[in-house]
Amino acid sequence: MTLPKIEDLVFKHLESLRAAEERAPSLLEGIPHANASSAGNCARLIGYRIAKAAESNPITGDSLFNFSMGDHVHDQIQAAFCAVIPECQIEVNGKIEDFITVRADLLYKTEEGKLVCGEIKSVSDFAYKLATGVKLKSNGQWNKKGQTGEGPKREYVLQNGISARALGADYLHVIYARKTAAKSEPIFAEFRFKIKDLDDKIDAEIARLKWIVDSIKKGILPAREYEDEIIENPAKKNYPCGYCSYLETCSQMPSEAIPLNSMPKVVPGHLNRKEKSWDLKDTTTQGKSSCI
Ligand code: SF4
Repeated sequence: MTLPKIEDLVFKHLESLRAAEERAPSLLEGIPHANASSAGNCARLIGYRIAKAAESNPITGDSLFNFSMGDHVHDQIQAAFCAVIPECQIEVNGKIEDFITVRADLLYKTEEGKLVCGEIKSVSDFAYKLATGVKLKSNGQWNKKGQTGEGPKREYVLQNGISARALGADYLHVIYARKTAAKSEPIFAEFRFKIKDLDDKIDAEIARLKWIVDSIKKGILPAREYEDEIIENPAKKNYPCGYCSYLETCSQMPSEAIPLNSMPKVVPGHLNRKEKSWDLKDTTTQGKSSCI
């Protein structure tokens, strides 16, 4: 009896789960649209996602496993909110007109009856320290002299803000949870905002997403624009390009907007997936793996 290696077995299962998630119907099924989770990202990356372009650098098993750890963190926090706050809702779907869908992690009311939209981010120690400025000596990451917390990432606030807008919330609640909690060190950090204080930024990002959706409908892939700048060389831009599923395709194209039909053809997965001599059944519908 030949068994797959543990990495291959687990990664294959996680790939199946992800594929099932991607097949789940959306509130704007069949209509080109953006998702709030793309807010703040590179315009071309958002364009690729709206066009459902084949990925030249699909997510790898190690990242899928890391995300799955984050899913468990999400579940724990959501369960805690639901246990304590009456009528707290989780995974709440919504949309803005016919061009943005949202899915909020949490939606609950304050004692005064104000509606709060929550976004949970399970983060690395590096991201936690960047946002909070807290010293985490457990992994040897000390702060630079005078380093203070920068607050939550701009993208996260915009994503939470657009979800809050779609669901009619009064407040945003961005929750950071470390995936590597150590004894006597903080695990969580939370940041709250009134949506009316962020109206301009949220409006601008909604208008940007609409512009990208309209570009794709016209057959145009947007320029490589991120934070109001053009990315000239994706291969040398660690963030956001180093984490992008379209890095190889994008690197072969010019920076400016181009026709969608001029994209190079890619074989999805050819970069990161090894040929396997075995095949697991779709483990999302099996309950558990049936490979042995
Ligand atoms: S590789 Fe970089 S520039 Fe290209 S789509 Fe991805 S994030 Fe944007």
